[in-house]
Amino acid sequence: MFLWGARKRCVERVAREKKVTCHHCGSEALIASEAVWMLGAATLDIYLKCSDCELETPMPLSPTEYKRCGFDPDEALPDVP
Ligand SMILES: [Zn+2]
Repeated sequence: MFLWGARKRCVERVAREKKVTCHHCGSEALIASEAVWMLGAATLDIYLKCSDCELETPMPLSPTEYKRCGFDPDEALPDVP
């Protein structure tokens, strides 16, 4: 899912707290772009885009972390058209 607003700001804050840096160039200038539920909502993988090299670094969030940012595991269920 695309990230915006409060959730985007929250996961970017979590990334700073976890001292996540770009896996490619080591930059701390990461912008949360997308979130992908892993099977069974065990983790929520956040994709952080680097402002410097524009490559993405994944950051898995535990249930405690993603609930803090307002993500609901019910959203992990497949979308019904
Ligand atoms: Zn980078």
